[in-house]
Amino acid sequence: MRYVWATGTHQGRVRDHNEDAVYPATSGAGEGPILIVVADGMGGHVAGEIASGLAIDRVVETSPEDGDVSPRERVNSANDRLLMAVRENPALLGMGTTMTLGLFDADGILHIGHVGDSRAYLLRDGGMRQLTRDHTVVAELVALGHLSPEAAEHHPQRHLLTRTLGLGPVEIDQYEYQLEPGDRVLICSDGLTVMVDDDDIEAMAGGDVEGTVWTLIEAANAAGGVDNTTVAVVDLSA
Ligand code: MN
Repeated sequence: MRYVWATGTHQGRVRDHNEDAVYPATSGAGEGPILIVVADGMGGHVAGEIASGLAIDRVVETSPEDGDVSPRERVNSANDRLLMAVRENPALLGMGTTMTLGLFDADGILHIGHVGDSRAYLLRDGGMRQLTRDHTVVAELVALGHLSPEAAEHHPQRHLLTRTLGLGPVEIDQYEYQLEPGDRVLICSDGLTVMVDDDDIEAMAGGDVEGTVWTLIEAANAAGGVDNTTVAVVDLSA
């Protein structure tokens, strides 16, 4: 199995700084295991940047080779790190971050740890499906059948998160998917998915990894770029 990946992040056209963070910062290739992480920070002043940065710094301290550490434990260690930072500096109280962590192992299995409304998608055989569930009020209402997916897309409170790192103990979703050669995985912050519909993301996600990252970021900015946008693309080949 061979992975090829690229990542990119952009502050967008409205915000004056970027509270998203992504790991790794550079594109690359390898046999796996490889770790790809997207975090979307929030909080006053620079606290959002601090949250996403601290969270990613903590999770990359644990080697992707360490198979004894589950994705849930990896994400939870980032949560612990943020809670410690707030205890040390109460001015940071209220900062938080999403985290969608993908560990792509040498056998082609994708292990995901996930909190918040960043997303992972799988592109396979000309189709695209979301691998993660959003932890937002509207996503929970859709799951309960109280709101249609169409109404959710334009709901004024669609950004309200039900789970985030940095505020206290948190339930972390964990997923495992067997990938196949030819699969492409997309991990992105809501700066992309708020601005660009899934059908359009799918239609634009067919180029090489590096080109796709920037095509999608540019599409989010062309649509208004109201938020920071982060995109990671990972291809698997035999
Ligand atoms: Mn965002």
